[in-house]
Amino acid sequence: MSNFSVNNCMETKPAAKHRARSDARVASAGAEKDFTLPADVLPAVLRHLSHDALFCALQLCKMWHAAGSAAGPAALWEEHYHQRGWQQHHQQQHDGSGQLEAAHTGQQQLQPTDWRERYRQQYSLACYQCFQPTQRHTLAVGSLRLRLCRDCSSAAASPQDHHRLLSEAASKTFYCLKQTDLDPLPRCVEPNPIDPAFSPMRLYRRLDVRRVAITRWGSWEAVQAEYWRRRKR
Ligand SMILES: [Zn+2]
Repeated sequence: MSNFSVNNCMETKPAAKHRARSDARVASAGAEKDFTLPADVLPAVLRHLSHDALFCALQLCKMWHAAGSAAGPAALWEEHYHQRGWQQHHQQQHDGSGQLEAAHTGQQQLQPTDWRERYRQQYSLACYQCFQPTQRHTLAVGSLRLRLCRDCSSAAASPQDHHRLLSEAASKTFYCLKQTDLDPLPRCVEPNPIDPAFSPMRLYRRLDVRRVAITRWGSWEAVQAEYWRRRKR
């Protein structure tokens, strides 16, 4: 049955506008409610994210943050720990083959059930790119000093889609940025993989570069449109 009535017809323009806004808010609240995930879906989503996407997701809202907290499901961190291939390395250490490296890195005996803490400790000992343990660090410029194994350092000159570090040239090409956009960003320096006598590579975190590009161009879609526009020239 329609809600139409004489009173509705008699509404002044401002009153009608106010009611329309109010209706929109109610509809919006209803829409938000519809988007609330069932409790068992959220952990399933979080399990399939990359390291960077996971930590971005955990900052999204209180509910998502709680899913990654110490009180959240331990299976989340256990699954990500295995996805990084760290369980194999942990077993090697306990088999004796990794004792030397464990002594060098000062790794402590971990509680077997504390998967979140275990993940945090292993991440702090891992190569930023491939997540394998390494003692090699980049040269810091400013505050950015990362663990980066030799293989990943060489590969940084030609970054692939899944790489977390970008060279200066790749940052400018794929994210349509200028040097002045990159200058404020934290960066590290690695020897030039073609010839160490050449100028060293400056490497930036993809997360930082992407954020700056979105700020500069207004949206991720606009960054992509600009990239393709330049490619067609
Ligand atoms: Zn690596």
